[in-house]
Amino acid sequence: MTRFYPREKLTQLIVGLVMTASPAVVPAAQAQRICGTPSAEEWQAQLNPAQQQAYQRAEARAAQRQQEAAAGTAARTAAGGVTIPVVVHVVYNTAAQNVTDAQIQAQIDVLNRDYSRTNPDAVNTPAAFAGRTAAVGVQFRLAVRDPKGAATNGIERRQTTAAYWLGDRVKMSSFGGLDAWPAGQYLNLWVCNLDAGMLGYAQLPGGEPAFDGVVLLYSTLPGGAAPYNLGRTATHEVGHWLNLSHIFQGGCRGTDNVDDTPPQSAANYGCPTFPRTSCGAAGANGDMFMNFMDYVDDACMNSFTAGQRLRVQTLFEANGLRSSLLASPGLTPVATPLPVTLVEFGATARATAVQLHWTTAQEKNNAYFALERAHDGQHFAEVSRLTGSGTSSTARRYTYTDATLPAAVTLYYRLRQVDLDGTTTYSEVRTVNRPEQHEAFQVLPTLVADGQLRYTAAEAGQLECCSVSGQRVLPAVQLPAGTGQLDVRHLRSGTYFARLTSQAGVRVSRFVVE
Ligand SMILES: [Zn+2]
Repeated sequence: MTRFYPREKLTQLIVGLVMTASPAVVPAAQAQRICGTPSAEEWQAQLNPAQQQAYQRAEARAAQRQQEAAAGTAARTAAGGVTIPVVVHVVYNTAAQNVTDAQIQAQIDVLNRDYSRTNPDAVNTPAAFAGRTAAVGVQFRLAVRDPKGAATNGIERRQTTAAYWLGDRVKMSSFGGLDAWPAGQYLNLWVCNLDAGMLGYAQLPGGEPAFDGVVLLYSTLPGGAAPYNLGRTATHEVGHWLNLSHIFQGGCRGTDNVDDTPPQSAANYGCPTFPRTSCGAAGANGDMFMNFMDYVDDACMNSFTAGQRLRVQTLFEANGLRSSLLASPGLTPVATPLPVTLVEFGATARATAVQLHWTTAQEKNNAYFALERAHDGQHFAEVSRLTGSGTSSTARRYTYTDATLPAAVTLYYRLRQVDLDGTTTYSEVRTVNRPEQHEAFQVLPTLVADGQLRYTAAEAGQLECCSVSGQRVLPAVQLPAGTGQLDVRHLRSGTYFARLTSQAGVRVSRFVVE
């Protein structure tokens, strides 16, 4: 297989060597566009035999579509659009390399305009070429669902100690980069500080999924470094990812496998003026230097052609090399719980109960509130369940009286709000202190010196007396409400608990026998 290196490729390799040896001299602003993407021919040489066969089948299909279109037996316009989920991996060393979410969204917007030919500078296409320009019919959106099914904004970031990146290590977390998301479901875009003066490079279709995607120099995003600061590097590299070749591929006698792009001897740089002819009569109108797959400045490229669209759309036919993206879950929103706005939640101690109340300003999909209580602030158990209002935009007030109280003086309450889909949200915890407990049942004095236990009970109930170890030391007795006393002369010196069980709950009072 013959290897063909265009002049730019050699320049890139040479520059790459120089820059690798002395990375500190890499200029902040690029003097010339350098794209690190291999040609289709070079790409095939990198593939394993099975991948090579698949790629060659795809190339044969693309060529067939081109012939059908030329013969008028197939439409150049693809039916339906394609929207591709995008994940952006930002691998940064300095703050400047940590591009903002806004820059990333601006980059996505540029891609969408350029691939739908709604870019405002489309009017700059010379009339001689305007008739062959086209909307590629591919759109891009930041993913909203990650490979694990969780919600995402489609952007992940990692700080690295590496000042520069060369090669695919930026795609490997083990080398300080970020791993690709499944390439069959997402377009992976890495943003980092590329070495060798490179603006970006792409992996053509059909290769190793772990390395599939596009790598961009951070300063090529919108707002970056002129003259490559309008996001067109991504447009160009995503073109490669969609199997487009440089428009000058192979020179005047070569081909980019697209029949409506004129032959061109080599890359154009800067901002040429029309006409710019490099292959004589072969290209009647000269070079289509404003094509996104040339090397001109961002401000001077503005077009794809119908032939390029056809080549891209072939990838999305059944079994096409990018067709699995059509079934990606990456743009399916993750159902998120809708808010129930709790504006107030309070707990107030009464004589023998705790009064709870809460108010919602609005509710969405609210199934119920579970009121939970703990005596230690940690081990909450459900006390009661109150049906929610479902969806309501007006204030709703809830009350509950907790009359079955445990012995603890301090009680803790919280609300567990449960949505119709089972999603659970907890309120803050409210604490209730119950000084009234002593009035509900009280042993006084707590020091028993004369063998008589004196008590006050707000309600009638059953009294038991237990040792510290829980052993019952008196037969259970029924007490009427009011004050009274019990003979405990037979109790040895020590600490005991008097436990009154009434309809209002259990009350415990400690006493000491001398
Ligand atoms: Zn390129």
